[in-house]
Amino acid sequence: MLSIGLAALHWHEMTDPWKHHRILKRIGVTSALLMFLTFASVALGIVNENPRGSRIFIYCWMLLVLVMLILTHEARCPRCGRRFYARGLDFRQMTKKCLHCGQKKYAELAATPNPDPG
Ligand SMILES: [Zn+2]
Repeated sequence: MLSIGLAALHWHEMTDPWKHHRILKRIGVTSALLMFLTFASVALGIVNENPRGSRIFIYCWMLLVLVMLILTHEARCPRCGRRFYARGLDFRQMTKKCLHCGQKKYAELAATPNPDPG
């Protein structure tokens, strides 16, 4: 009984409804920075251009971008459980609100749907 109570408390404290979204954002920002630094290094001649290496590098980037897009597309809204960034064919990666229930990103989960007066 006590262990269940402790586990529930622990779970409640450790659970961040936006964890998935935060991780995605961090990966996105980090990879954009790395890509910029790499291209800058090549452009400035710090890294010698290697045609084969560049091709592998570009393929890796395309793969990463694709995976990021899929992960973002599949990211769920912690409030309504549906896709946060996509509704049907509509896909807005930069949206600040859930496309289904209007839940604001990184905000406390609202109790009622569409609390936005504006
Ligand atoms: Zn939602």
